[in-house]
Amino acid sequence: MEKKIRVRFAPSPTGGLHLGGVRTALYNYLFAKQHRGSFILRIEDTDQSRFVAGAEEYIYETLRWCGLEPDESPLHGGPFAPYRQSERKKIYREYAERLVHAGQAYIAFDTPEELEAMRSKHRTATNPSPQYDHQTRTHMRNSLSLAPMETKKLLEAGAPHVIRIRMPDNETLQLNDMIRGQVEFNTSLVDDKVLLKADNMPTYHLAVVVDDFLMQVTHAFRGEEWLPSAPVHLLLWRYLFGEEKMPAWAHFPLILKPDGNGKLSKRDSDRLGIPIFAMDWKDPASGEIISGFREKGFLPEAFVNLLAVLGWNDGTEQELYSLTELVEKFSIERVHKAGAKFNYEKAKWFNQEWIRKISVEELSFIVRKIYNQYSLHIPDEIFLRSVILLIRDRCHLLPEFYTQGRFFFEAPRQWDTESISTKWNAAKTAFFISYIEKFQDISEWNAYNLETVFKELAASQKIKAGELQLPFRVMLVGEKSGPPVFDIAGLLGKSETSKRINNLLALTENW
Ligand code: GLU
Repeated sequence: MEKKIRVRFAPSPTGGLHLGGVRTALYNYLFAKQHRGSFILRIEDTDQSRFVAGAEEYIYETLRWCGLEPDESPLHGGPFAPYRQSERKKIYREYAERLVHAGQAYIAFDTPEELEAMRSKHRTATNPSPQYDHQTRTHMRNSLSLAPMETKKLLEAGAPHVIRIRMPDNETLQLNDMIRGQVEFNTSLVDDKVLLKADNMPTYHLAVVVDDFLMQVTHAFRGEEWLPSAPVHLLLWRYLFGEEKMPAWAHFPLILKPDGNGKLSKRDSDRLGIPIFAMDWKDPASGEIISGFREKGFLPEAFVNLLAVLGWNDGTEQELYSLTELVEKFSIERVHKAGAKFNYEKAKWFNQEWIRKISVEELSFIVRKIYNQYSLHIPDEIFLRSVILLIRDRCHLLPEFYTQGRFFFEAPRQWDTESISTKWNAAKTAFFISYIEKFQDISEWNAYNLETVFKELAASQKIKAGELQLPFRVMLVGEKSGPPVFDIAGLLGKSETSKRINNLLALTENW
């Protein structure tokens, strides 16, 4: 029997989830579901200094909103619990010590001051940030440079220490990446990363390898920013569990600024006024809010869709995919190597398409909530759906259902009179007075009949219907824009239409 596919999304709860993070979750999910495997959420919270309250809940809510429910997680439980690394603390030390005994890692006692002294001593123009590595380690205070007795004494005295990997000198390591193919690394270029910190907490490097092993992860997919540390992970696999047990790797491309100039960052969100997080994130310390797609008015279907194609396509022209369809068509091999530029206009296009695509039932559920927020009175479900059908092609973002549709629920209190007042005359007033009279007898109140009566009346009074339509629209909407004007009147009904005509006629008396 083939081995069950197990993938993990392993975020650190340090703040909101940006596009890249959610895309990593999505690709993991798609791969898992496609192979009837398990999608694991592991919370990588070993760096306590970066702990941010609320960040973990934010992750659950984002995944729920996107429909990417994990099979195993701190919340969902599972056979390999706990799934929060801070709760697995006691597991890691043993592995780090095993490496020390084998000479593949060592104990380092350097204080922050000593580390800084090393950096300033070795800092040159060509080497602005000297590393703790094969060149410098011999000058530092660690179990490689100190006599064994001295190390022992320090340990017995409880001297604070970390455990570092001993990167081999000048070895070439090869990693087979499912997207990038063979990637080579020279071990001399990689520093002796800390594996276990003084507080006994592992660093990401040790924890990720140990947990991927213990949780039987078969495929490890993550962002490209982790590629430089891959050689460390590869060695840890080799030393601890054997490379043949290692999961298959893939590193997803970066998401770039709209102009392609570097990685999309939080700052771009402010600078360009675009969301880059899944949902609004309020930093508990600074109170700063980074805007998210959900609050901007994106449908989760659209968000998932636009993320999926940021760095992947199925080789056809198709752009719109449902989650179910993505599960069927996604393939890691077709994920691009090059970074994907984020285009907000295109993102809104996806949302508009999805607003058109989902059923009016679903949409009315969502739009009702928006209208409720603004305390608009919704007479009945049929009316609401009719409004939605009239305006939905005009909406890119959900809040536009309010701006584009509010006049159906409340008569305008302000009018764009500028566009009509200069050309106003008594003939127009007379026209609208007789229009109200005429439409009293319309047998069936609908857009077609309203338009017919309007045009016949205009012809009989020798006024161009075109010149009357704009005022009529301003009467009903308050503005020059909106769906076809007779459709609007058709929905508003006889008495409301009369009322709105009269409201504006009252104003024209002063023109
Ligand atoms: N904890 C890492 C992060 O925050 C996860 C990287 C990985 O998936 O291995 O991005």
